[in-house]
Amino acid sequence: MAQQSTETDWVSRFADEVIAEAERRAPGKSGADAPVIVCASGLSPSGPIHLGNLREVMTPHLVADEIRRRGYACEHILSWDDYDRYRKVPAGIDPSWAEHIGKPLTSVPAPPGSPYGSWAEHYRAAMEESLRELGVEYRGISQTEQYTSGAYREQVLHAMKHRADIDAVLDRYRTKDKPKAGKQQQKPVEAAELEAAEGSGAASEDDGSAGGSGYFPYKPYCTVCEKDLTTVTSYDDETTELAYDCTACGHSETVLLSGFDHGKLVWKVDWPMRWAYEGVLFEPSGVDHSSPGSSFVVGGQIVREVFGGAQPIGPMYAFVGISGMAKMSSSKGGVPTPGDALKIMEAPLLRWLYARRRPNQSFKIAFDQEIQRLYDEWDALERKIADGSAQPADAAAHRRAIGTAAGELPTTPRPLPYRTLASVMDITAGHDEQTLRILGELDPEHPVTALDETRPRLDKAEYWITTQVPAEARTIVRDEPDKELLGTLDEQARGSLRLLLDGLDEHWSLDGLTTLVYGVPKIQAGLEPDAKPTPELKVAQRAFFALLYNLLVGKDTGPRLPTLLLAVGADRVRKLLGD
Ligand SMILES: [Zn+2]
Repeated sequence: MAQQSTETDWVSRFADEVIAEAERRAPGKSGADAPVIVCASGLSPSGPIHLGNLREVMTPHLVADEIRRRGYACEHILSWDDYDRYRKVPAGIDPSWAEHIGKPLTSVPAPPGSPYGSWAEHYRAAMEESLRELGVEYRGISQTEQYTSGAYREQVLHAMKHRADIDAVLDRYRTKDKPKAGKQQQKPVEAAELEAAEGSGAASEDDGSAGGSGYFPYKPYCTVCEKDLTTVTSYDDETTELAYDCTACGHSETVLLSGFDHGKLVWKVDWPMRWAYEGVLFEPSGVDHSSPGSSFVVGGQIVREVFGGAQPIGPMYAFVGISGMAKMSSSKGGVPTPGDALKIMEAPLLRWLYARRRPNQSFKIAFDQEIQRLYDEWDALERKIADGSAQPADAAAHRRAIGTAAGELPTTPRPLPYRTLASVMDITAGHDEQTLRILGELDPEHPVTALDETRPRLDKAEYWITTQVPAEARTIVRDEPDKELLGTLDEQARGSLRLLLDGLDEHWSLDGLTTLVYGVPKIQAGLEPDAKPTPELKVAQRAFFALLYNLLVGKDTGPRLPTLLLAVGADRVRKLLGD
Protein backbone atom coordinates (compact mmCIF):
# COMPACT_ATOMS: atom_id res chain seq x y z
CA MET A 1 0.00 0.00 0.00
CA ALA A 2 2.71 2.42 0.90
CA GLN A 3 4.22 4.04 -2.10
CA GLN A 4 7.66 5.55 -1.94
CA SER A 5 7.89 9.14 -2.97
CA THR A 6 10.27 10.17 -5.69
CA GLU A 7 10.25 13.80 -4.66
CA THR A 8 13.35 15.39 -3.32
CA ASP A 9 11.96 18.11 -1.14
CA TRP A 10 12.71 18.29 2.59
CA VAL A 11 9.25 17.10 3.59
CA SER A 12 9.63 13.88 1.62
CA ARG A 13 13.05 13.23 3.08
CA PHE A 14 11.78 13.60 6.65
CA ALA A 15 8.78 11.41 5.82
CA ASP A 16 11.21 8.73 4.56
CA GLU A 17 13.19 8.97 7.79
CA VAL A 18 10.14 8.85 10.04
CA ILE A 19 8.66 5.84 8.22
CA ALA A 20 12.01 4.02 8.46
CA GLU A 21 12.17 4.81 12.19
CA ALA A 22 8.58 3.57 12.66
CA GLU A 23 9.52 0.29 10.98
CA ARG A 24 12.64 0.01 13.10
CA ARG A 25 10.62 0.50 16.30
CA ALA A 26 7.90 -1.98 15.29
CA PRO A 27 9.66 -4.50 13.06
CA GLY A 28 7.56 -6.79 10.91
CA LYS A 29 4.36 -4.82 11.44
CA SER A 30 2.72 -3.40 8.38
CA GLY A 31 -0.66 -2.33 7.13
CA ALA A 32 -3.39 -2.45 9.76
CA ASP A 33 -1.00 -4.02 12.31
CA ALA A 34 1.45 -1.15 12.19
CA PRO A 35 1.21 1.37 15.03
CA VAL A 36 -0.04 4.83 14.13
CA ILE A 37 2.88 7.11 13.36
CA VAL A 38 2.89 10.08 15.75
CA CYS A 39 4.25 13.51 14.86
CA ALA A 40 4.09 16.17 17.56
CA SER A 41 4.08 19.89 18.25
CA GLY A 42 3.83 21.84 21.48
CA LEU A 43 2.58 25.37 22.04
CA SER A 44 2.31 27.41 25.19
CA PRO A 45 -0.79 29.65 25.20
CA SER A 46 0.97 32.10 27.51
CA GLY A 47 0.17 35.03 25.21
CA PRO A 48 -0.47 35.66 21.52
CA ILE A 49 1.15 32.77 19.64
CA HIS A 50 3.25 34.52 17.04
CA LEU A 51 3.98 33.65 13.44
CA GLY A 52 7.43 32.30 14.20
CA ASN A 53 5.88 29.66 16.42
CA LEU A 54 3.70 28.54 13.54
CA ARG A 55 6.80 26.68 12.35
CA GLU A 56 6.48 24.48 15.43
CA VAL A 57 3.17 23.31 13.96
CA MET A 58 3.75 23.54 10.20
CA THR A 59 6.91 21.41 10.21
CA PRO A 60 5.27 18.28 11.71
CA HIS A 61 2.03 19.07 9.88
CA LEU A 62 3.71 18.90 6.48
CA VAL A 63 5.64 15.75 7.37
CA ALA A 64 2.54 14.04 8.83
CA ASP A 65 0.54 15.04 5.76
CA GLU A 66 3.15 13.53 3.43
CA ILE A 67 3.10 10.29 5.47
CA ARG A 68 -0.71 10.19 5.18
CA ARG A 69 -0.53 10.84 1.46
CA ARG A 70 1.59 7.72 1.22
CA GLY A 71 -1.16 5.71 2.84
CA TYR A 72 0.17 5.29 6.39
CA ALA A 73 -1.90 5.93 9.49
CA CYS A 74 -0.38 9.06 10.98
CA GLU A 75 -1.48 11.40 13.72
CA HIS A 76 -0.30 14.94 14.42
CA ILE A 77 -0.67 15.69 18.11
CA LEU A 78 -0.52 19.25 19.35
CA SER A 79 0.23 19.63 23.01
CA TRP A 80 -1.26 22.77 24.52
CA ASP A 81 1.17 23.48 27.33
CA ASP A 82 -1.56 25.17 29.31
CA TYR A 83 -0.50 23.70 32.66
CA ASP A 84 2.66 25.83 32.49
CA ARG A 85 2.95 28.59 35.02
CA TYR A 86 1.85 32.13 34.20
CA ARG A 87 5.16 33.98 34.04
CA LYS A 88 4.53 37.62 33.31
CA VAL A 89 1.92 40.14 32.34
CA PRO A 90 2.36 41.13 28.70
CA ALA A 91 2.35 44.77 27.59
CA GLY A 92 -1.14 46.17 27.20
CA ILE A 93 -2.76 43.97 29.86
CA ASP A 94 -4.05 45.27 33.20
CA PRO A 95 -0.99 45.14 35.53
CA SER A 96 -3.18 43.72 38.30
CA TRP A 97 -2.91 40.36 36.47
CA ALA A 98 0.49 40.11 38.17
CA GLU A 99 -1.32 38.61 41.18
CA HIS A 100 -1.78 35.44 39.09
CA ILE A 101 1.90 34.87 38.37
CA GLY A 102 2.82 31.31 39.33
CA LYS A 103 -0.61 29.78 38.65
CA PRO A 104 -1.28 27.38 35.76
CA LEU A 105 -2.29 29.26 32.59
CA THR A 106 -5.71 27.61 32.78
CA SER A 107 -6.26 29.10 36.27
CA VAL A 108 -5.57 32.68 35.20
CA PRO A 109 -8.58 34.77 34.11
CA ALA A 110 -8.70 35.65 30.41
CA PRO A 111 -7.62 39.18 29.40
CA PRO A 112 -10.31 41.80 30.07
CA GLY A 113 -13.17 41.65 27.58
CA SER A 114 -12.44 38.11 26.39
CA PRO A 115 -15.37 35.70 26.03
CA TYR A 116 -13.13 32.82 27.15
CA GLY A 117 -12.90 31.26 30.57
CA SER A 118 -9.15 31.44 31.07
CA TRP A 119 -5.93 32.98 29.84
CA ALA A 120 -4.90 29.76 28.12
CA GLU A 121 -8.27 29.28 26.43
CA HIS A 122 -8.24 32.82 25.09
CA TYR A 123 -4.92 32.49 23.26
CA ARG A 124 -5.47 28.89 22.28
CA ALA A 125 -8.78 29.77 20.57
CA ALA A 126 -7.12 32.35 18.32
CA MET A 127 -4.51 29.82 17.23
CA GLU A 128 -7.09 27.09 16.68
CA GLU A 129 -9.00 29.40 14.37
CA SER A 130 -5.90 30.06 12.27
CA LEU A 131 -4.99 26.37 12.13
CA ARG A 132 -8.50 25.60 10.84
CA GLU A 133 -8.10 28.17 8.09
CA LEU A 134 -4.67 26.72 7.24
CA GLY A 135 -6.10 23.21 6.90
CA VAL A 136 -3.93 21.82 9.70
CA GLU A 137 -5.49 18.64 11.14
CA TYR A 138 -4.31 17.62 14.60
CA ARG A 139 -5.39 16.20 17.91
CA GLY A 140 -5.08 18.88 20.56
CA ILE A 141 -4.03 17.70 24.01
CA SER A 142 -4.52 19.98 27.00
CA GLN A 143 -1.74 19.31 29.49
CA THR A 144 -3.98 20.68 32.24
CA GLU A 145 -6.51 17.96 31.44
CA GLN A 146 -3.81 15.30 31.24
CA TYR A 147 -2.25 16.17 34.60
CA THR A 148 -5.41 16.96 36.54
CA SER A 149 -7.21 13.84 35.30
CA GLY A 150 -4.35 11.68 36.52
CA ALA A 151 -3.49 10.46 33.01
CA TYR A 152 0.21 10.74 33.84
CA ARG A 153 -0.05 9.50 37.44
CA GLU A 154 2.00 6.37 36.81
CA GLN A 155 4.64 8.38 34.95
CA VAL A 156 4.83 10.91 37.78
CA LEU A 157 5.29 8.17 40.39
CA HIS A 158 7.87 6.50 38.15
CA ALA A 159 9.83 9.73 37.76
CA MET A 160 9.77 10.34 41.52
CA LYS A 161 10.96 6.80 42.17
CA HIS A 162 13.85 7.32 39.71
CA ARG A 163 14.62 10.86 40.81
CA ALA A 164 18.21 9.95 41.56
CA ASP A 165 18.71 8.70 37.97
CA ILE A 166 17.15 11.86 36.59
CA ASP A 167 19.29 13.99 38.88
CA ALA A 168 22.37 12.14 37.62
CA VAL A 169 21.49 12.82 33.96
CA LEU A 170 20.83 16.49 34.69
CA ASP A 171 24.02 16.70 36.66
CA ARG A 172 26.07 15.81 33.57
CA TYR A 173 25.04 19.16 32.16
CA ARG A 174 24.70 21.38 35.19
CA THR A 175 28.23 22.75 34.89
CA LYS A 176 27.91 23.23 31.13
CA ASP A 177 26.00 25.86 29.20
CA LYS A 178 22.66 26.52 30.73
CA PRO A 179 19.86 26.61 28.20
CA LYS A 180 17.98 29.85 28.44
CA ALA A 181 15.07 29.38 26.15
CA GLY A 182 12.08 27.15 26.19
CA LYS A 183 10.89 24.88 23.46
CA GLN A 184 8.57 27.34 21.86
CA GLN A 185 10.50 30.43 22.67
CA GLN A 186 12.14 31.91 19.67
CA LYS A 187 14.01 35.10 19.23
CA PRO A 188 13.26 36.17 15.70
CA VAL A 189 15.49 38.41 13.65
CA GLU A 190 13.79 41.49 15.00
CA ALA A 191 13.32 40.10 18.45
CA ALA A 192 13.73 43.42 20.16
CA GLU A 193 10.83 45.09 18.44
CA LEU A 194 8.70 41.99 18.21
CA GLU A 195 8.91 41.16 21.87
CA ALA A 196 8.49 37.51 21.00
CA ALA A 197 5.82 35.62 22.85
CA GLU A 198 7.05 33.98 25.98
CA GLY A 199 7.94 30.42 25.28
CA SER A 200 6.86 27.34 27.05
CA GLY A 201 7.05 28.50 30.59
CA ALA A 202 8.03 25.07 31.74
CA ALA A 203 11.17 25.27 29.70
CA SER A 204 12.95 28.01 31.51
CA GLU A 205 11.80 27.05 34.94
CA ASP A 206 14.35 25.37 37.10
CA ASP A 207 14.84 21.67 36.47
CA GLY A 208 13.90 20.77 40.01
CA SER A 209 17.45 21.23 41.25
CA ALA A 210 18.19 19.79 44.62
CA GLY A 211 17.23 21.89 47.62
CA GLY A 212 17.89 20.92 51.21
CA SER A 213 15.80 17.77 51.02
CA GLY A 214 17.14 16.31 47.80
CA TYR A 215 16.16 16.41 44.15
CA PHE A 216 12.49 16.18 43.09
CA PRO A 217 11.43 16.30 39.40
CA TYR A 218 7.87 17.19 40.40
CA LYS A 219 6.38 20.45 41.53
CA PRO A 220 2.95 20.77 43.18
CA TYR A 221 0.69 23.73 42.54
CA CYS A 222 -0.36 24.87 46.04
CA THR A 223 -3.92 23.70 46.73
CA VAL A 224 -4.74 26.95 48.54
CA CYS A 225 -3.30 29.74 46.36
CA GLU A 226 -2.76 27.64 43.17
CA LYS A 227 0.79 28.97 42.72
CA ASP A 228 3.84 26.87 42.01
CA LEU A 229 6.01 28.69 44.56
CA THR A 230 6.24 25.43 46.45
CA THR A 231 9.09 23.37 47.82
CA VAL A 232 8.84 19.62 48.23
CA THR A 233 10.22 18.90 51.70
CA SER A 234 9.90 15.12 51.80
CA TYR A 235 8.78 12.13 49.76
CA ASP A 236 8.24 8.52 50.77
CA ASP A 237 8.62 5.98 47.95
CA GLU A 238 6.65 3.30 49.78
CA THR A 239 3.59 5.32 50.74
CA THR A 240 3.99 8.10 48.07
CA GLU A 241 3.50 10.59 50.88
CA LEU A 242 4.70 13.99 49.72
CA ALA A 243 5.05 17.10 51.87
CA TYR A 244 5.40 20.62 50.52
CA ASP A 245 5.55 24.19 51.75
CA CYS A 246 4.16 27.14 49.79
CA THR A 247 6.26 30.28 50.02
CA ALA A 248 3.49 32.38 48.47
CA CYS A 249 0.75 31.82 51.06
CA GLY A 250 2.49 29.85 53.80
CA HIS A 251 0.38 26.73 53.32
CA SER A 252 1.99 23.40 54.20
CA GLU A 253 0.48 20.09 53.31
CA THR A 254 1.17 16.37 53.13
CA VAL A 255 -0.54 14.50 50.29
CA LEU A 256 -0.47 11.02 48.79
CA LEU A 257 1.05 11.51 45.36
CA SER A 258 -0.70 8.32 44.19
CA GLY A 259 -3.96 10.23 44.46
CA PHE A 260 -2.88 13.85 44.01
CA ASP A 261 -3.25 15.47 40.59
CA HIS A 262 -2.33 19.08 41.30
CA GLY A 263 1.19 19.51 40.01
CA LYS A 264 3.48 18.63 37.15
CA LEU A 265 6.85 17.24 36.21
CA VAL A 266 9.52 19.85 35.56
CA TRP A 267 9.91 20.64 31.87
CA LYS A 268 13.08 18.66 31.23
CA VAL A 269 11.36 15.54 32.55
CA ASP A 270 7.86 16.38 31.35
CA TRP A 271 8.87 16.54 27.66
CA PRO A 272 10.65 13.16 27.44
CA MET A 273 7.89 11.58 29.56
CA ARG A 274 5.41 12.65 26.89
CA TRP A 275 7.63 11.32 24.05
CA ALA A 276 7.39 7.92 25.69
CA TYR A 277 3.71 8.25 26.65
CA GLU A 278 2.59 9.18 23.13
CA GLY A 279 5.25 7.27 21.19
CA VAL A 280 6.35 10.41 19.38
CA LEU A 281 8.45 9.75 16.24
CA PHE A 282 8.89 13.27 14.97
CA GLU A 283 8.96 16.55 16.87
CA PRO A 284 10.99 19.59 15.85
CA SER A 285 12.20 22.34 18.12
CA GLY A 286 13.69 25.82 17.90
CA VAL A 287 17.36 26.29 17.08
CA ASP A 288 18.27 27.08 20.66
CA HIS A 289 17.79 23.42 21.53
CA SER A 290 20.92 22.01 19.94
CA SER A 291 23.20 23.19 22.70
CA PRO A 292 24.56 20.77 25.28
CA GLY A 293 22.20 20.70 28.21
CA SER A 294 19.22 21.80 26.11
CA SER A 295 15.93 20.15 26.89
CA PHE A 296 16.01 18.15 23.62
CA VAL A 297 19.46 16.72 24.32
CA VAL A 298 18.83 16.04 28.01
CA GLY A 299 15.38 14.71 27.16
CA GLY A 300 16.94 12.16 24.81
CA GLN A 301 18.86 10.65 27.70
CA ILE A 302 16.00 10.81 30.16
CA VAL A 303 13.53 9.15 27.78
CA ARG A 304 15.95 6.24 27.24
CA GLU A 305 17.36 5.87 30.74
CA VAL A 306 14.25 6.59 32.78
CA PHE A 307 11.15 6.01 30.67
CA GLY A 308 12.46 3.23 28.41
CA GLY A 309 11.40 5.14 25.31
CA ALA A 310 13.18 6.71 22.38
CA GLN A 311 13.90 10.25 21.31
CA PRO A 312 11.92 11.44 18.29
CA ILE A 313 13.55 12.62 15.08
CA GLY A 314 13.81 16.28 15.98
CA PRO A 315 15.13 18.78 13.48
CA MET A 316 15.91 22.26 14.69
CA TYR A 317 13.98 24.96 12.92
CA ALA A 318 15.34 28.44 12.29
CA PHE A 319 13.69 31.71 13.14
CA VAL A 320 10.95 33.24 11.10
CA GLY A 321 11.12 37.01 10.93
CA ILE A 322 8.63 39.61 9.88
CA SER A 323 9.27 42.44 7.49
CA GLY A 324 7.42 45.69 7.83
CA MET A 325 4.51 44.99 10.13
CA ALA A 326 2.92 48.40 10.43
CA LYS A 327 3.00 49.97 13.86
CA MET A 328 -0.72 50.54 13.69
CA SER A 329 -1.44 46.82 13.96
CA SER A 330 0.94 46.28 16.83
CA SER A 331 -1.54 47.23 19.51
CA LYS A 332 -1.71 43.69 20.80
CA GLY A 333 1.88 43.82 22.01
CA GLY A 334 3.56 43.97 18.62
CA VAL A 335 3.36 40.25 18.05
CA PRO A 336 2.10 39.34 14.59
CA THR A 337 0.12 36.12 14.81
CA PRO A 338 -0.88 33.66 12.09
CA GLY A 339 -4.29 35.35 12.27
CA ASP A 340 -2.68 38.68 11.35
CA ALA A 341 -0.93 37.07 8.36
CA LEU A 342 -4.15 35.39 7.20
CA LYS A 343 -5.82 38.78 7.05
CA ILE A 344 -3.42 39.88 4.30
CA MET A 345 -2.71 36.62 2.50
CA GLU A 346 -4.57 33.46 1.54
CA ALA A 347 -3.91 30.27 3.47
CA PRO A 348 -2.14 28.48 0.56
CA LEU A 349 0.36 31.32 0.28
CA LEU A 350 1.18 31.21 4.00
CA ARG A 351 1.51 27.40 3.86
CA TRP A 352 3.80 27.79 0.85
CA LEU A 353 6.23 30.02 2.80
CA TYR A 354 6.76 27.19 5.30
CA ALA A 355 6.69 24.36 2.74
CA ARG A 356 9.28 25.77 0.37
CA ARG A 357 12.01 26.45 2.94
CA ARG A 358 13.83 23.71 4.81
CA PRO A 359 13.27 24.05 8.56
CA ASN A 360 16.89 25.14 9.11
CA GLN A 361 16.51 28.07 6.69
CA SER A 362 15.24 31.26 8.22
CA PHE A 363 12.93 33.50 6.24
CA LYS A 364 10.77 36.56 6.64
CA ILE A 365 7.06 36.96 6.24
CA ALA A 366 6.25 40.16 4.39
CA PHE A 367 3.75 42.63 5.73
CA ASP A 368 5.28 45.40 3.57
CA GLN A 369 5.43 45.99 -0.22
CA GLU A 370 7.33 42.72 -0.55
CA ILE A 371 4.05 40.83 -0.29
CA GLN A 372 3.18 42.02 -3.81
CA ARG A 373 6.36 40.49 -5.21
CA LEU A 374 5.68 37.33 -3.24
CA TYR A 375 2.23 37.02 -4.80
CA ASP A 376 3.74 37.61 -8.27
CA GLU A 377 6.12 34.73 -7.56
CA TRP A 378 3.25 32.52 -6.43
CA ASP A 379 1.19 33.34 -9.54
CA ALA A 380 4.20 32.60 -11.74
CA LEU A 381 4.57 29.23 -10.02
CA GLU A 382 0.90 28.46 -10.62
CA ARG A 383 1.38 29.19 -14.32
CA LYS A 384 4.37 26.83 -14.41
CA ILE A 385 2.35 24.14 -12.65
CA ALA A 386 -0.42 24.63 -15.20
CA ASP A 387 1.89 24.24 -18.20
CA GLY A 388 3.96 21.48 -16.61
CA SER A 389 7.23 23.37 -16.54
CA ALA A 390 7.73 23.57 -12.73
CA GLN A 391 10.74 21.88 -11.12
CA PRO A 392 9.83 18.80 -9.02
CA ALA A 393 10.72 20.41 -5.68
CA ASP A 394 8.75 23.55 -6.58
CA ALA A 395 5.79 21.43 -7.64
CA ALA A 396 5.98 19.52 -4.33
CA ALA A 397 5.97 22.75 -2.30
CA HIS A 398 3.01 23.98 -4.35
CA ARG A 399 1.06 20.77 -3.78
CA ARG A 400 1.69 20.99 -0.02
CA ALA A 401 0.59 24.64 -0.07
CA ILE A 402 -2.75 24.21 -1.84
CA GLY A 403 -4.08 21.33 0.22
CA THR A 404 -3.59 18.25 2.34
CA ALA A 405 -4.31 14.54 2.10
CA ALA A 406 -7.85 15.51 3.14
CA GLY A 407 -8.40 17.74 0.12
CA GLU A 408 -7.69 21.13 -1.38
CA LEU A 409 -8.13 24.40 0.48
CA PRO A 410 -10.53 27.04 -0.81
CA THR A 411 -9.07 29.20 -3.56
CA THR A 412 -9.91 32.43 -5.33
CA PRO A 413 -11.80 31.50 -8.53
CA ARG A 414 -10.34 34.43 -10.46
CA PRO A 415 -6.88 35.12 -8.97
CA LEU A 416 -6.11 38.58 -10.33
CA PRO A 417 -2.63 39.94 -9.52
CA TYR A 418 -2.47 40.99 -5.85
CA ARG A 419 -0.72 44.24 -6.72
CA THR A 420 -3.49 45.13 -9.16
CA LEU A 421 -6.17 44.38 -6.56
CA ALA A 422 -4.28 46.39 -3.95
CA SER A 423 -4.00 49.37 -6.31
CA VAL A 424 -7.66 49.20 -7.21
CA MET A 425 -8.72 49.02 -3.58
CA ASP A 426 -6.30 51.83 -2.81
CA ILE A 427 -7.94 54.10 -5.34
CA THR A 428 -11.58 53.11 -4.82
CA ALA A 429 -11.27 52.97 -1.02
CA GLY A 430 -13.31 49.77 -1.10
CA HIS A 431 -16.25 51.20 -3.07
CA ASP A 432 -17.84 48.01 -4.48
CA GLU A 433 -19.50 49.42 -7.61
CA GLN A 434 -16.41 51.31 -8.66
CA THR A 435 -14.22 48.28 -7.93
CA LEU A 436 -16.39 46.01 -10.06
CA ARG A 437 -16.36 48.55 -12.91
CA ILE A 438 -12.55 48.65 -12.89
CA LEU A 439 -12.05 44.90 -12.49
CA GLY A 440 -14.54 44.37 -15.33
CA GLU A 441 -12.46 46.58 -17.61
CA LEU A 442 -9.10 44.91 -16.90
CA ASP A 443 -9.72 42.23 -19.49
CA PRO A 444 -12.75 43.12 -21.65
CA GLU A 445 -12.63 39.75 -23.45
CA HIS A 446 -13.21 37.87 -20.15
CA PRO A 447 -14.61 40.48 -17.82
CA VAL A 448 -14.97 39.96 -14.09
CA THR A 449 -18.74 40.06 -13.59
CA ALA A 450 -18.97 39.73 -9.78
CA LEU A 451 -16.58 40.70 -7.02
CA ASP A 452 -16.97 37.27 -5.43
CA GLU A 453 -14.97 35.76 -8.33
CA THR A 454 -11.96 37.66 -7.01
CA ARG A 455 -12.46 36.82 -3.34
CA PRO A 456 -10.96 36.08 -0.86
CA ARG A 457 -7.81 37.49 -2.52
CA LEU A 458 -9.53 40.83 -3.05
CA ASP A 459 -10.36 41.10 0.67
CA LYS A 460 -6.79 40.25 1.69
CA ALA A 461 -5.40 42.91 -0.67
CA GLU A 462 -7.89 45.44 0.66
CA TYR A 463 -6.97 44.67 4.26
CA TRP A 464 -3.30 44.96 3.40
CA ILE A 465 -3.57 48.32 1.66
CA THR A 466 -5.76 49.82 4.39
CA THR A 467 -3.84 48.54 7.44
CA GLN A 468 -0.23 48.04 6.35
CA VAL A 469 0.49 50.78 3.82
CA PRO A 470 1.34 54.12 5.43
CA ALA A 471 -0.80 57.13 4.54
CA GLU A 472 1.99 58.84 2.61
CA ALA A 473 2.28 55.81 0.33
CA ARG A 474 -1.44 55.70 -0.39
CA THR A 475 -2.76 56.96 -3.72
CA ILE A 476 -5.00 60.00 -3.75
CA VAL A 477 -6.31 60.87 -7.19
CA ARG A 478 -6.51 64.62 -7.83
CA ASP A 479 -9.94 66.20 -7.81
CA GLU A 480 -9.02 69.04 -10.14
CA PRO A 481 -6.45 69.30 -12.97
CA ASP A 482 -3.06 70.74 -12.02
CA LYS A 483 -3.45 73.87 -14.17
CA GLU A 484 -0.10 75.25 -13.15
CA LEU A 485 1.79 72.13 -14.28
CA LEU A 486 -0.29 71.85 -17.45
CA GLY A 487 0.56 75.48 -18.24
CA THR A 488 4.31 74.87 -18.13
CA LEU A 489 4.33 71.89 -20.53
CA ASP A 490 6.34 72.16 -23.72
CA GLU A 491 5.25 71.07 -27.19
CA GLN A 492 6.58 67.56 -26.84
CA ALA A 493 4.93 66.91 -23.44
CA ARG A 494 1.63 68.21 -24.73
CA GLY A 495 2.01 65.99 -27.79
CA SER A 496 2.55 62.93 -25.62
CA LEU A 497 -0.62 63.65 -23.63
CA ARG A 498 -2.55 64.11 -26.86
CA LEU A 499 -1.34 60.72 -28.19
CA LEU A 500 -2.37 59.07 -24.94
CA LEU A 501 -5.81 60.71 -24.86
CA ASP A 502 -6.48 59.86 -28.51
CA GLY A 503 -5.64 56.20 -27.86
CA LEU A 504 -7.63 55.75 -24.65
CA ASP A 505 -10.87 54.37 -26.07
CA GLU A 506 -9.17 51.92 -28.38
CA HIS A 507 -6.82 50.67 -25.62
CA TRP A 508 -9.20 50.55 -22.64
CA SER A 509 -8.02 47.28 -21.00
CA LEU A 510 -5.05 46.34 -18.86
CA ASP A 511 -3.08 44.97 -21.83
CA GLY A 512 -4.19 47.73 -24.17
CA LEU A 513 -3.20 50.55 -21.81
CA THR A 514 0.14 48.84 -21.15
CA THR A 515 0.86 48.94 -24.88
CA LEU A 516 -0.34 52.53 -25.07
CA VAL A 517 1.69 54.03 -22.21
CA TYR A 518 4.90 52.36 -23.39
CA GLY A 519 4.06 53.12 -27.00
CA VAL A 520 3.53 56.88 -26.79
CA PRO A 521 7.24 57.73 -26.27
CA LYS A 522 8.11 55.33 -29.11
CA ILE A 523 5.76 57.05 -31.53
CA GLN A 524 7.21 60.39 -30.51
CA ALA A 525 10.70 59.08 -31.18
CA GLY A 526 9.57 57.81 -34.60
CA LEU A 527 9.95 54.15 -33.60
CA GLU A 528 7.71 51.20 -34.35
CA PRO A 529 5.39 50.13 -31.46
CA ASP A 530 7.35 46.87 -31.04
CA ALA A 531 10.80 48.52 -31.19
CA LYS A 532 13.38 47.43 -28.62
CA PRO A 533 13.89 50.13 -26.00
CA THR A 534 17.07 52.17 -26.28
CA PRO A 535 18.59 54.09 -23.33
CA GLU A 536 17.21 57.34 -24.80
CA LEU A 537 13.76 55.80 -25.12
CA LYS A 538 13.86 54.63 -21.49
CA VAL A 539 14.63 58.16 -20.35
CA ALA A 540 11.72 59.46 -22.40
CA GLN A 541 9.39 56.78 -20.98
CA ARG A 542 10.39 57.62 -17.42
CA ALA A 543 9.77 61.31 -17.99
CA PHE A 544 6.38 60.57 -19.57
CA PHE A 545 5.36 58.30 -16.68
CA ALA A 546 6.42 60.88 -14.09
CA LEU A 547 4.36 63.52 -15.90
CA LEU A 548 1.29 61.25 -15.85
CA TYR A 549 1.71 60.46 -12.14
CA ASN A 550 2.04 64.13 -11.31
CA LEU A 551 -1.05 65.07 -13.25
CA LEU A 552 -3.12 62.17 -11.86
CA VAL A 553 -1.96 61.76 -8.25
CA GLY A 554 0.39 64.70 -7.61
CA LYS A 555 3.48 62.51 -7.06
CA ASP A 556 6.36 61.15 -9.14
CA THR A 557 5.31 57.54 -8.67
CA GLY A 558 2.25 55.44 -7.92
CA PRO A 559 0.55 52.17 -8.78
CA ARG A 560 1.28 50.71 -12.22
CA LEU A 561 -0.02 53.19 -14.79
CA PRO A 562 -2.41 50.92 -16.73
CA THR A 563 -4.08 49.93 -13.44
CA LEU A 564 -4.14 53.54 -12.31
CA LEU A 565 -5.69 54.76 -15.57
CA LEU A 566 -8.39 52.08 -15.43
CA ALA A 567 -9.07 52.88 -11.80
CA VAL A 568 -9.32 56.61 -12.38
CA GLY A 569 -11.72 56.09 -15.30
CA ALA A 570 -11.58 57.56 -18.81
CA ASP A 571 -13.63 60.69 -18.11
CA ARG A 572 -11.58 61.71 -15.11
CA VAL A 573 -8.32 60.93 -16.93
CA ARG A 574 -9.37 63.26 -19.74
CA LYS A 575 -10.23 66.00 -17.28
CA LEU A 576 -6.97 65.69 -15.29
CA LEU A 577 -4.78 65.54 -18.42
CA GLY A 578 -6.31 68.81 -19.62
CA ASP A 579 -8.42 67.49 -22.48
ZN1 LIG B 1 0.02 28.73 48.45
